[in-house]
Amino acid sequence: MQITMLGTGAMVPTKDRNAQGIFLDYNGEGILFDCGEGTQRQMNIAGINRHRIKKIFITHWHGDHIGGLLPLLETLSNKESEHKITIFGPKDTSKRIDYLTKTVDFKNNKLEIEIVDLNPNLKEKVYENEDYYVEAAFLDHSVPCLGYSIVEKDKRRMKNKELEKYSVKGRNIGLLQKGETVEIDGKEVTPEMVSYIEKGKKLTVILDTYVCETAIMLAENADFLICECTYTQEYDEKARQYKHLTTENAAFIANQANAQKLLLTHFSQRYKSTDKLYEEIKSFFPESQLAFDLMKIKV
Ligand SMILES: [Zn+2]
Ligand SMILES: [Zn+2]
Repeated sequence: MQITMLGTGAMVPTKDRNAQGIFLDYNGEGILFDCGEGTQRQMNIAGINRHRIKKIFITHWHGDHIGGLLPLLETLSNKESEHKITIFGPKDTSKRIDYLTKTVDFKNNKLEIEIVDLNPNLKEKVYENEDYYVEAAFLDHSVPCLGYSIVEKDKRRMKNKELEKYSVKGRNIGLLQKGETVEIDGKEVTPEMVSYIEKGKKLTVILDTYVCETAIMLAENADFLICECTYTQEYDEKARQYKHLTTENAAFIANQANAQKLLLTHFSQRYKSTDKLYEEIKSFFPESQLAFDLMKIKV
């Protein structure tokens, strides 16, 4: 999994920070979390082909998180060949996208848009394929806002040397891959003898929330947690009032959830320098980084 932070600001874009957008490259599949204004251009600068996007996960319908959605859909619909994207978002997302596309002359012949309205009870699995599943949970923001986790499944990897040693070939490799024991020249070969399990990674995205139990549930044992952090500690009261997080709040969630690494984003425009944010978060949660626009990280 490779992440590109397309926008790391809060509320309004600044000279240095675009509105929200996180691009995840999952083995070549493009997955976008939120699509703030300017997301398409940020993708250009980052060298990401927009047509790779197959899924969009919307956290909530505040402008800084969806302002670039309509233009992106228009671009995607201009492709010559037929293709499909799936958009996941909080309840009423399908209704909102319907309104949105009616505000312009949206000629859409080639793009099939599947929309999944989500209304999870606490934490729920909302999507699954062979490689990973996605969990969602409502957080505590001023409007319905979802957090998401991408949970990669464990994979059995074959050891070539051992395969050779036990003369495993052809169909038997497939059976062992599925976890079955096979017999070769009268001898049993178990999956454990020729393979190992590679543990899947977990990535959690928590944007726009105040501290809540569901955020901790969602981020439980995450290898990598991307978390909003709008304020430094001194604005604790503002964070509570506007339902955002301070450095201390974000670290509390990461600590409680036993997350391994923390990446903070969604910084208030009041911070011309992020030194104080950095100093604070490092003291609360040492395995932390602050995101900047176009930052790329491997999970
Ligand atoms: Zn926001
Ligand atoms: Zn918001």
